[in-house]
Amino acid sequence: MSDCIFCKIANGEIPSRTIHEDDFCRVILDLGPAARGHALVLPKEHYANIYELPEDKTAQAFVVARKMASRMTEKLGCDGFNIVQNNGETAGQTVFHFHIHLIPRYKDDGQKIGWNPGSPSDEELDETARIING
Ligand code: 5GP
Ligand code: ZN
Repeated sequence: MSDCIFCKIANGEIPSRTIHEDDFCRVILDLGPAARGHALVLPKEHYANIYELPEDKTAQAFVVARKMASRMTEKLGCDGFNIVQNNGETAGQTVFHFHIHLIPRYKDDGQKIGWNPGSPSDEELDETARIING
């Protein structure tokens, strides 16, 4: 994808603050961090979202995320850690090259990463499960 900024960053054509690189991916600091150390796992190959990402590469990406979470927690001394992955505009995706957000969390960092909980009836939950399982 010649016009994809994350392709260019992942492949080193645009400089980035890299905190991990291997044959499969590059992990970079996010320029608009939710908290100190917020980073992105970028596969070097272009896949728009998780639906396009082959299973073996999905596994690789999440293994990198898991290793980075440990290293970043140790080095940054954060108190918690969010791993976030957005697919589609409706879900908040703004760059359409698959990436995993690694977000160290600190007590009183003032961030909110979450949702407003709903209160579905038992029937609604049963129906949703039926649709997914059907
Ligand atoms: P999304 O909203 O697609 O899940 O996340 C895109 C993320 O990429 C945002 O957190 C945004 O701050 C970050 N971002 C966008 N452009 C750049 C860039 O050129 N360099 C870096 N390091 N991060 C970027
Ligand atoms: Zn790309």
